[in-house]
Amino acid sequence: MVTKLSFFSAIASVLLATACNTHSAYQRKIAHPANPVVAHRGAFKKNNLPENSIASLREAIRLGCAGSEFDVRMTADDSLVINHDPAYHQLPIEKHSYAELLAFPLANGEKIPTLREYLLAGKTNNKTTTLVVEIKPSETSKERGKRIAEKVLDLVGALHMRKKVIYISFDYDMLQHLHNLDATTHTQYLNGDKSPLQLKQDGINGADYHYSVFQKNPDWIQMAKDNGILLNAWTVNDKAIMDWLLSAGFHYITTNEPEGLFEKV
Ligand code: MG
Repeated sequence: MVTKLSFFSAIASVLLATACNTHSAYQRKIAHPANPVVAHRGAFKKNNLPENSIASLREAIRLGCAGSEFDVRMTADDSLVINHDPAYHQLPIEKHSYAELLAFPLANGEKIPTLREYLLAGKTNNKTTTLVVEIKPSETSKERGKRIAEKVLDLVGALHMRKKVIYISFDYDMLQHLHNLDATTHTQYLNGDKSPLQLKQDGINGADYHYSVFQKNPDWIQMAKDNGILLNAWTVNDKAIMDWLLSAGFHYITTNEPEGLFEKV
C-alpha cells in the first residue's frame, strides 16, 4: 500500500532530478498527473465495452484516468483506424480499405473508430486524461511505418492536440523519427531492451515496459529517475505488482483494471 504523500513525494523527487535536463520543461508538464492510472485500450473491462472503442475512451475520461491508451493502424487506402490486432474480422487492415472494415461494427454498435474520431472524442469534456497513442509498426515496411507516424503527428497537430497526447511504440526508429520531426513530442518506448540512459541519449522520454523488465532490471528504476525518464509499466492487473510499482514511484501504470488501481492511489 502506498500513501498519497509518498506517491507525490516520489513525483517531486523526479521533478527535481529532471530540473537540469534538456527535456525538463516538457516533462514537467507530463509529470504532473493527478494519478498514475492509464487505462489500457480504454476502460473496457469492468463494463464489458469493446477494447479500443470510443465508449472505452469516454469511460477512462469519466473515471479521471491520467491516460487512456489505444492502438493506431493504417488501411490500404491510408485511413488511420483504431484497432489492436493487424487484422479486423480476419481482414488484414493494411490490405483492405476503410470502407471494407466498416462492414463490421464493434460489439456495442460503434463503427471501427478513425483516429480523427477518436482524438475528437478525447478532446471533448476532458481535462484530466492524456491520450496515449500507440502507433503499431507497419507489417508491410519500415517506411510505411514512418509514414503512419507522420500522418498521426500531422493530424494531432491539425486538431491542436499536441499537449494532450503521448506516443508509444515498439518501433524505436519510429519514436526517434517522431522526435526528429518535432522535438516537443513526448515518446515512450515499449520493447524493454534499452536502458533509461540509452533512452535519454536518443531523445525518448519514457520507459513504458512490461513490468517483468523492471523486475529483471531493478536498477533501471533509479536510473530512469536520475535521468528524467518517465516510468510506465504494462499491463498490470495484479494487485501486488500494482503495490510494488506504486511504492517504487512509477509515474504511470497501464492496466486493464483502472478501477482497481484507483482504489490504491
Ligand atoms: Mg497498445
